[in-house]
Amino acid sequence: MNPSSKVVYLTFDDGPIPECTPQVLKILAQYGVKATFFMVGENAERYPELLAQVRAAGHAIGNHTYHHLKGYKTCTHTYVQDAERANNILQTTLFRPPHGRMKYSQKKALRLAGQTIYLWDVLTHDYNPCYSVEKMLSVVQRCTRNGSIIVMHDSLKAKDRMLLLLPLVIEWLQREGYQLGVLD
Ligand SMILES: [Zn+2]
Repeated sequence: MNPSSKVVYLTFDDGPIPECTPQVLKILAQYGVKATFFMVGENAERYPELLAQVRAAGHAIGNHTYHHLKGYKTCTHTYVQDAERANNILQTTLFRPPHGRMKYSQKKALRLAGQTIYLWDVLTHDYNPCYSVEKMLSVVQRCTRNGSIIVMHDSLKAKDRMLLLLPLVIEWLQREGYQLGVLD
């Protein structure tokens, strides 16, 4: 995003799930910061109260397809339909392809449908059990710059490490003078 203003963007992929998303919301509220949640449509449909809670708290919602599809393994028609199915629930113009990859034809079709595609530049590796909290924090500290988009996961796989990391990241960002923005 804009490299000349000291704003960074926290993003959460793969939720919402009751085992993790409420705890993320609680931490964000404690620090008074907003984030962007790229939701899997299937999860949002299953837990509409979580979708409503995220929205009501003033966070941004993004589309992460209905079934968390791998673009490269899916034909464009199916991919776009799946994203549309998610968007019936999520009602957003923000899109992030699962695994950060998709075909050019999929990107083109989604952009024509009015979607803006957001990847990230700071990967916390919160889903990777080989990364300690210290190591994840040092990645964030080393890679974050003005306009950075940081990705974490409100997923079962990542939650234990992510919930420890999140307050440390927010405290560090605030100490460094970064504002936390939402994508729009
Ligand atoms: Zn994902």
